[in-house]
Amino acid sequence: MSFLPISPDDPRHANGTALKRLPLRKAAVLFIAVVCVCLCGLLYLQLEQSRRHDLAVAEVASANLTRAVAQQAEDTFMKADLVLTSLADWLQMDGFGLAQNPQLQKMFARRVQALSQLHGIFLFDRNGQWVVTSFEDLPRGPGVADREYFLFHQQNVSSVAHIGPPIRSRTNGEWIIPVSKRVNDKQGNFQGVLLAGIKMAYFDQFFKSFSIDEEGSIALALTDGTLLARRPFVEAQIGLSLAKGEIFSKYLAGAMSGTAMITSVLDGSVRLHGFRQLDAYPLVVTAASSRDSILKGWYDTALQSSLIVALVVLGVGLFGWVFVRQVRVGERVERDLRNAKEALKLIATHDSLTGLANRRLFEQALAIEFSRDVRQSRSLGLIMLDIDYFKRYNDAYGHVAGDHCLAEVANAVKSCCHRPVDLAVRYGGEEFAVLLPDTDIHGTLVVAEQIRRSVMARNINHSDAPSGFVTVSLGCHAFVPTRLDSTEVFIERADAALYQAKHSGRNRSAVLSMEGVGELMRYDR
Ligand code: GH3
Ligand code: MG
Ligand code: MG
Repeated sequence: MSFLPISPDDPRHANGTALKRLPLRKAAVLFIAVVCVCLCGLLYLQLEQSRRHDLAVAEVASANLTRAVAQQAEDTFMKADLVLTSLADWLQMDGFGLAQNPQLQKMFARRVQALSQLHGIFLFDRNGQWVVTSFEDLPRGPGVADREYFLFHQQNVSSVAHIGPPIRSRTNGEWIIPVSKRVNDKQGNFQGVLLAGIKMAYFDQFFKSFSIDEEGSIALALTDGTLLARRPFVEAQIGLSLAKGEIFSKYLAGAMSGTAMITSVLDGSVRLHGFRQLDAYPLVVTAASSRDSILKGWYDTALQSSLIVALVVLGVGLFGWVFVRQVRVGERVERDLRNAKEALKLIATHDSLTGLANRRLFEQALAIEFSRDVRQSRSLGLIMLDIDYFKRYNDAYGHVAGDHCLAEVANAVKSCCHRPVDLAVRYGGEEFAVLLPDTDIHGTLVVAEQIRRSVMARNINHSDAPSGFVTVSLGCHAFVPTRLDSTEVFIERADAALYQAKHSGRNRSAVLSMEGVGELMRYDR
């Protein structure tokens, strides 16, 4: 049996409770993972916050830009509108004809001179033919009866100014945005159309005064989506309809102004669009800037921060790896030390020849069992065993054979210790002891006889012994110890029984009963 008392300084026991070892490696890995996740999480939160901030600033800038452009567009058209209104009133009062036309031409020219946005002012009669223009020479040609604005005023009695799709001037080929008014006689009958052409180049110049990115754009359109002016200027796009774009089809339906992030169906790039519908005229202004240029600074910061965090995470990970490796090495060293300590303890407490407990361990175990049985009032049994005529065996077969014989007898003793608490001991030389906790004298004797028979059953030849085989003599003693009893006396009594067994012929078990020391019970074949 293995009986290894656990010392009080053993880390496995403290106050009788097993101490749970901290899973240091797991804790370190978890801690490092948490640190890395926290770092990445913080980076993400910080970047997300600054991205939102940059976009919010861009939205404000976009809203301001569209407001400024809208204001300028409104002023431009309002001035033209006022000019047309005053001229239309004049025409309604005084009419036009050969008498008035020279004066009208001067009035038109003065107005055009005063307003830089104006390309020219034109008066058409009810057939669409030129009557007077701000230019000195009157154009010749088929007239403007086919123009959208002329047809509009011909069919609408409203005196409100009309802004039409952009056209090329039939006077000098310049792109103009037509602002027109119906001219009535005093009875309100249609007499013709008064037209002010606003230079598209005027808006182009104005749009250029704003700094926008290369992919950005500023546009002026009618509320039906017809494009009037745009930066960058692409002639082929003038007059095209934006009605199907998201701004017109979705956002303007719900709000007069706002901003929206829209993916272009043309080039797939994402742009922030600001849009505003004018209060006084059916016009819409839009301004777009590419999301990439808005977030350019953010991309740079994000790259730098991500690199720094990646380096820190790498460093922490590396440190963690080294740390965990060190912990693993430490654990291995500790395990080796523990194993060495166990081995040392085994060497210190066991006999190397037989593998049985040595006398030192026997004394420790006896002390523990003795006091336990004192507390619990239970019987403790002890067998002392000595090989018969062993000196002669050595003499006959030599010491090496003697050692083998000792090991064989030890095996026989061990084989009879059935319970884990039974302790087989090499007491010294060719003497053995068996400690039997919680065993009375009858049980002790039964085990002693089993040992004796087991040794005999091994048929170890011993030519110098009377039986011709190796035999053993056993002394048994068992009692319920009290505080007054000592282990020494306990051993002495078992020894006395052994002495008796020897003297009464050997190869037998003898019992020393407690009723009378010296009273001997003999058992033999
Ligand atoms: P008895 O029947 O009275 O016990 O006679 P004995 O010869 O066995 O008793 P004795 O005490 O005179 O002799 C014991 C012998 O055991 C003496 C010694 O040489 C031998 N012995 C003790 N330890 C060892 C050992 O480790 N190996 C070997 N081979 N012999 C040992
Ligand atoms: Mg002896
Ligand atoms: Mg002997």
